[in-house]
Amino acid sequence: MAKICVIGSSSMDLVVTSSRRPGAGETVLGDSFKTVPGGKGANQAVAAARLGGEVTMIGRVGDDAFGTDILNNFKANGVNTQNVKPVTHLESGTAHIILAEGDNSIVFVEAANREVTPAYVDQAAEVIRSADIVLIQQEIPEETVVHVSAMCAEFGTPLLLNPAPARTLPQEVIDNAAYITPNEHEAAILFQGMSPAEALRQYPNKLFITEGSNGVRYFDGAQEIVVPTYKVEAVDTTGAGDTFNAAFAVALAEGKPLQESIRFANRAASLSVTKFGAQGGMPTRDEVEESLS
Ligand code: ADP
Repeated sequence: MAKICVIGSSSMDLVVTSSRRPGAGETVLGDSFKTVPGGKGANQAVAAARLGGEVTMIGRVGDDAFGTDILNNFKANGVNTQNVKPVTHLESGTAHIILAEGDNSIVFVEAANREVTPAYVDQAAEVIRSADIVLIQQEIPEETVVHVSAMCAEFGTPLLLNPAPARTLPQEVIDNAAYITPNEHEAAILFQGMSPAEALRQYPNKLFITEGSNGVRYFDGAQEIVVPTYKVEAVDTTGAGDTFNAAFAVALAEGKPLQESIRFANRAASLSVTKFGAQGGMPTRDEVEESLS
């Protein structure tokens, strides 16, 4: 089994649906409420475990009911939680989501995720050293992303950086990463002043720009290549990027060739958009393999 270490955020998503979004100072009646585990790090860890990876999560939760639910969800999906330690002075991360008028508005409270610090990650250095690949995103402090990229460079562990949510990053992180997977919006922010074509040329076989229903674009050193995704009836694209990154990490860690890894990830991500919810739609290994054959 491929050893995948995911370093990132976890949260509980509190989702209400309402016919109308309240204005400032207003109260409206909602239609429904549910809680679902989320956070980019947790989503990617769960997706990678369902796809057959041996996944260890490095993250933090609050010492509260949501923290217990988040840990139970990891365990139910086979994710190793030894390095998801509760913080006593902060709540679990939460995302407060209103689905109304065909759109969502979200307030994300990082809380315990702020404690995924460089010193905390150092305690799990052996997990990083022994992983086949490390997967990281940007819902944790930037200094931690910088630190992890240096650790991976030192240990020779390949780092897959999913630069989401969008932000700029020190050049050393880009240099230390083996694979970088922004969507088009994140690529524009990460490589400001460069066209996508220029950025791709600068990072052959390293920068992979995901383009939703179009698939994935990269430069192989000689030419730009688009690996198309699969045509599906998209129901909910939340978590498509998370499933893509997890599946890409699993395939690369198993030693699959690059294009085959992208096809595997496209297949997994395209299946994920056919069901509701970020984690709700994440396919198992068998589902992906059946649909690839
Ligand atoms: P994000 O979710 O981070 O914004 P994208 O929208 O680029 O990222 O989606 C990531 C990947 O998910 C795509 O490269 C593709 O493989 C898959 N995907 C996303 N939307 C669709 C879709 N409508 N149909 C098929 N595959 C999709």
